[in-house]
This record gives sequence, C-alpha cells and structure tokens, in this order.
Amino acid sequence: METVVSGIRPTGNLHLGNYFGAVKSFLQMQHEYNCFFFIADWHSLTTHPHPDNIRKSVKTILAEYLACGIDPDKATIYIQSDVREVAELYLYLNMNAYLGELERVTSFKDKVRSQPNNVNAGLLTYPSLMAADIIIHKAVKVPVGKDQEQNMEMARKFARRFNNIYGVDYFPEPASFHLSEKAVKVPGLDGSGKMGKSEGNAIYLIDDEKTIKSKVMKAVTDSGPTEPNSEKPEPIANLFMMMDIVSTPDTYNFFNEKYNACEIRYGDMKKQLAEDINLFCKPIRERINDILADDTFLERIAREGAEKSAESAAKTLREVREIIGFRP
Ligand code: AMP
Repeated sequence: METVVSGIRPTGNLHLGNYFGAVKSFLQMQHEYNCFFFIADWHSLTTHPHPDNIRKSVKTILAEYLACGIDPDKATIYIQSDVREVAELYLYLNMNAYLGELERVTSFKDKVRSQPNNVNAGLLTYPSLMAADIIIHKAVKVPVGKDQEQNMEMARKFARRFNNIYGVDYFPEPASFHLSEKAVKVPGLDGSGKMGKSEGNAIYLIDDEKTIKSKVMKAVTDSGPTEPNSEKPEPIANLFMMMDIVSTPDTYNFFNEKYNACEIRYGDMKKQLAEDINLFCKPIRERINDILADDTFLERIAREGAEKSAESAAKTLREVREIIGFRP
C-alpha cells in the first residue's frame, strides 16, 4: 500500500482553508493508503510560541483532526516532536541544502518582508524540515493546498539529491495530491488572496454561528455589476468561490444568475453563505468540544500515533545512517 504523509502547524485552530485544502483529502485517503497525519509543532517554533500555547494548540489540532473524521484506526495521527528521527533526517538534508535555493523560496521571501526582525534559520530551512517530514516515511503522495507547491518541489529535489549523492534509489519523489483536478485555494473574504491564520482573515471550524455570520457579513463587496454577464472583480469572485465550496450547486447558480442579470443583493448572498458555512461547521464544532473534554482519549491517541510513527521513522533512519556511512 502506498504511503501518504501530511501535516498542519499548530498555530491556531483549523480553518476552512485547512479543511478544504488538506483535511478533506485526508478523510478520503485514509481508506486507500497507509496514512501518516501529523501536527507540525517543530515548524511552529519559527514564531517562538510560549510553551502553554504550544501545549494548547497541539491538543486543539489533535481534537480537530479527530472531530473532522480522521480515524486513528485507519490513519496514524502523531505529533511531529514525538518522532525525533525527523530531526536527525532534517540535519542530514540540511547538509545538502544550499543557501541560494532556500533564499529563493517565495514563502521565505514573504517572511523576510513581513517580519524583518525574526528571519531565523528555521524559517530558511523550513523546506528541508518539511522534506524530512515527508520522506521519513518514504511517502509518495502528499495532500496539500496550492500554497505548498514550491515546498513540494523542494522536497522532491532533496529526495533526488540524497539518492544522487549516495548513488542509491532509496527515497521516492513525493507528489502533491489534490482531490479534484485543480488544487483548491480557499480565498479570504477580505478581498485579498488566500484564507490563512497569519492573514487574519480565517473562518475557523470552531467558530460559533454568530462569529461566522459577523465574519461573512464583513466580506468585501462592491456596488454591483452594471453590465449583464460582467467579469467578477477579485473580492466578488472570492465570495462566489467560497459559496461554490460550501453551498449547494443550486444556491450557487441562483446567486450567479442574479449577478449576471445585475440583480445581485450581496447582503442576501452573504446571509445565505453564513448559513451554509454554519451548517457545515456545526457538527464538527460540537465534536471538537466533546473530544477536547476527554484528555485520556487524546493522550492515548497521541501515544499510539507516536509509537506507530516512530517505528516507521526508525526503520528509515537505520537505513539512512547505513547509506551515509554511520554506525547502525
Ligand atoms: P498551514 O495552516 O499553513 O500549516 O497549512 C496546513 C495545510 O492547509 C497545508 O496543506 C496548506 O496547503 C493548507 N491550506 C492552508 N490555507 C489554505 C487555503 N487558504 N486554501 C487551501 N489550502 C490551504
């Protein structure tokens, strides 16, 4: 059975971007592949979180994974920092990762611009840690959103480079996996590009009805089209994209026809969208709260996941050490 790996950073709650960009694929893939889904707490250290925040966020994401429907009997769910072999592989990959290529990664360049006072080595080497996460289990498929394309290219490059340097055919090159033909990019409703935690525009799975409504009603719109069948400007296209993701085709078509006929009332559209988002989030939200209350269950899932994942990682590391020339 082919192996799949993917992870999410515990820097807050899961939002609709995480769900439709990644978790939705996890739910399908767990039935068909040998899946490892992790909580990327080492990655989150680039922003220097307080220990209490790490503990809380890791627990939250674990509960949210389970509430979304990831089944620990089917997929291995684990916390990255429980599997120390990943850090050792990260070290080996870093020895063959070059400053120039790491500096050219778009998400690194964005961070240099957005947080010039905290351009740490962890940010620079983010792609080699991500590659280690993936290839430690010799994964061939990685369900990720569109924003991760460049990091995935780096992961393939590092796997290939390791094979070339040591003259082996050891690591497979991992491919990005998307449920549909095209990778999903869940938009923000603030008129900008994608929904994200750091973009401050996220709608979280845990948000209650009132919060969802207030976020959606604030979505950026315009005064409406004046010509029939006009092209939609970005903020409006984003609103429709979100509706396409969470609402029924009939609902989408109804508002699309209104737009095309220059009869759109954005207030009505937003109300409907908020209702549909709430309908989608409600059962997940209720499960999150139930699971969060059960520390014993969460601890057991984390421990069992760590054991299963460490076993797979230790096997790879034994072989990698031998390939490199270290004692077993
Ligand atoms: P992050 O929250 O950045 O750790 O991302 C975790 C996963 O969610 C990755 O697979 C991302 O590609 C995916 N993701 C995050 N935001 C979005 C978005 N707005 N649209 C699609 N996928 C996303």
